[in-house]
Amino acid sequence: MTGYLIKGARILGGGPTDVLLRDGVLAFGETDAGAEVIDATGLIALPGLVDLHTHLREPGREDAETVLTGTQAAAMGGFTAVHAMANTDPVADTAGVVEQVWRLGREGGYCDVYAVGAVTVGLAGEQLAELGAMADSAARVRVFSDDGHCVGDAVLMRRALEYVKAFDGVVAQHAQEPRLTEGAQMNEGELSGRLGLAGWPAVAEEAVIARDCLLAAHVGSRLHVCHVSTAGSVELIRQAKASGWNVTAEVTPHHLLLTDDLAASYDPVYKVNPPLRTAADTEALRAGLADGTIDVVATDHAPHPLEDKDCEWAAAAFGMLGLETALSVVQETMVDPGLLTWAEVAERMSYAPARIGRLADHGRPLEDGAPANIVLYDPSVRRVVEAAESVSLSRNTPYAGMELPGRVVATFLHGRPTVLDGKLA
Ligand SMILES: [Zn+2]
Repeated sequence: MTGYLIKGARILGGGPTDVLLRDGVLAFGETDAGAEVIDATGLIALPGLVDLHTHLREPGREDAETVLTGTQAAAMGGFTAVHAMANTDPVADTAGVVEQVWRLGREGGYCDVYAVGAVTVGLAGEQLAELGAMADSAARVRVFSDDGHCVGDAVLMRRALEYVKAFDGVVAQHAQEPRLTEGAQMNEGELSGRLGLAGWPAVAEEAVIARDCLLAAHVGSRLHVCHVSTAGSVELIRQAKASGWNVTAEVTPHHLLLTDDLAASYDPVYKVNPPLRTAADTEALRAGLADGTIDVVATDHAPHPLEDKDCEWAAAAFGMLGLETALSVVQETMVDPGLLTWAEVAERMSYAPARIGRLADHGRPLEDGAPANIVLYDPSVRRVVEAAESVSLSRNTPYAGMELPGRVVATFLHGRPTVLDGKLA
């Protein structure tokens, strides 16, 4: 057997086409009698998805997730590349740790793992980490973020933006003004008052985004805004782009679908940072993603073990799973309502994140000679999400019991299947 012949797949939702996966690349209009045939009738073929924002938890919290289990969850969701956030223990703020994460990804073989480097030492927001050493390491870091924490100090943020220009890097900011969100538990509004949970005002996100857009423009550097969650943030990014500034942004699937009224259940599975917002915010996020103001859908996959989530709201950890359900949520919120075509989904979930992360082997159009990173997706089925079916080590999915469209049938990484028939290969 040499390679795979995918028959009848609808490339980006177009007409049925055959494509041969051989020697790690795509070949159109060719056949190979020795290739294993995959019947993809009715399935959509997309380029392997790229996540700009994943928490793999290793090293340090291997009870929540490991690089292996996290990349298995990614493959099940159609991803072929993920960016692993730096808030591990130890923090990924040195060449040694980013190389460790990158190497664990290679050994696992389910997904290419690109380590995100911390902006500041220990995510403490006091001293710049060794950004250059991480960029020059085998892990070739290009995305830097203190995610989980905001780089609150304007001088440090300015220096980081200046520094990453030397190696064409980008600073990905978790925009959360620390003083305005002390003790914050959920979106600030009438509901937070009624539930007695400390409010998280939209302005705490928007103030940092406004400042950072101005800083990035001032020093002529690249800024990426993580998990945009408010209508006001979308408007600020729209203005920054109209000014020609080098600013990109992402939205999570959960902020596209879920709203703050879920907090009324006091179920901590809905506790996330930034918090779920209002229906008006969700609508603005969908519109911003549709018109390209928001460049990327990124999962912010944040696994937590039961003991960190199965407790009262105020004590619970922030975060939810996202890798395995991302494409289904995007179909539900964007494709089925006619806001995005499948070609635009490829742009938002593969091409754009690969471009922002400066990845060469991912986010490439499905054409002759391109790396054989490809996902086959069945948009015609609907399924009820079962938390127990996740291949993640954690179970904190907010979609449990919810019916969502679509199913990833197969994922190929460099021509090799990581998922076949909807199961890990
Ligand atoms: Zn974050």
